[in-house]
Amino acid sequence: MRTGQEEKIDKTGGMASLDGQSRQMVAELKRRGRYRYMRPLDGASSTRVEIDGHEYILLSSNNYLGLSTHPEVVDAAVLAVKKFGAGAGASRLVSGHNRLVQELEEEIADWKGKDRALVFPSGYSVNAGVISALTGVGDFVLSDQMNHASLIDACRLSKAETHVYEHSNPLDIIRKIQKTGGTGSILIVTDGIFSMDGDIAPLREIVSIKKKCGAHMAVDDAHGTGIIGENGSGVAGFCGVADDVDILIGTLSKAVGSQGGFVAAGSDVIERLINTCRPFIFSTGIAPACAASALAAIRIIRRDFEDLSSNLTRNARLMRAGLREIGFDVPADSGIPIIPLILGGDEAALRFSEKLFGKGVFAPAIRPPSVPEGTSRIRISVMATHTEEDIDRALEAFRAAGRATGTI
Ligand SMILES: *Cc1c(COP(=O)(O)O)cnc(C)c1O
Repeated sequence: MRTGQEEKIDKTGGMASLDGQSRQMVAELKRRGRYRYMRPLDGASSTRVEIDGHEYILLSSNNYLGLSTHPEVVDAAVLAVKKFGAGAGASRLVSGHNRLVQELEEEIADWKGKDRALVFPSGYSVNAGVISALTGVGDFVLSDQMNHASLIDACRLSKAETHVYEHSNPLDIIRKIQKTGGTGSILIVTDGIFSMDGDIAPLREIVSIKKKCGAHMAVDDAHGTGIIGENGSGVAGFCGVADDVDILIGTLSKAVGSQGGFVAAGSDVIERLINTCRPFIFSTGIAPACAASALAAIRIIRRDFEDLSSNLTRNARLMRAGLREIGFDVPADSGIPIIPLILGGDEAALRFSEKLFGKGVFAPAIRPPSVPEGTSRIRISVMATHTEEDIDRALEAFRAAGRATGTI
């Protein structure tokens, strides 16, 4: 007698060990220029980083305002560790949360102009949890083609039917809504500022569609929070639609410089999430140091937004103008710190990033599935704390890498 197990083994042509199978898969990734690895930094992640005793200008961090190393932010984290310890201990529903988390949620709600906010261990877990907690069988989720991977995974987790619409195309949203039947609710989800291209979603148009159709709307503002809008409150405020967006999602790990994610919405929605959102319920609360540093950072952003933002915008414009002068085709004239330098093939992007590294600039190649096939790139992100000298030196490295790879 054969068991089901044996049959399965026979079909795969023998018993490859998990190690063997994994080795093969990684080798295949290497062959295709898709291999990923991490570099250990010997100090803080700031505008310059130390790797193996050498200093590099960092052009790939989302710590856009440099707040992760701001003295007030660091002090707040140290004090919190001393008072509340290193870890939260359990899910907040099980063992309570320290007061800092509550204060942080009140600060976020006030900043975002919503009734309440709820903090999660990461932005990824907010998306993974919120979309499936708010939609169910018979409902529809409409998702932008270029949404972040965490929203794509969120749609996969949801029991609702997902329709992917053409990037930032309101007409296609209407077409997709017309295809939905039944009485289910419709949730439109979009990045606020798209993470790989730095373009802004057409939130005004989407709001007007959602009002006409009685749909709901969630905006993932991971990259707009702290960057644009009044006092850095984000893209919904920037577009003048903060009141109309039902669900505002963001992360504490980018411009806020700490770690964690949040959702801001009406009180009833937050109550529902506390009671039904699985990544919230079944994950330990954020560490006290993260809550304290995020709170300190948001207060700094709200207080000093004009200065922080004018430095960031200046650096973004300097970098874009410099790259265009050298001959690279990057989008001009935007103060958004995300600058895509699209090179096409995976190998081309890899070679370019290696040349940059050789010239003292750390900005890795971004390849599928982070970006669509054929659009592998260097995703440059500038920080408010880069100096003009940093930008000049970086531009020289881009010129050299461009020449060495025949890109310019
Ligand atoms: C980074 C990012 C996230 C994930 O946030 P983390 O806090 O890093 O988990 C979610 N959405 C978008 C658009 C992002 O860029």
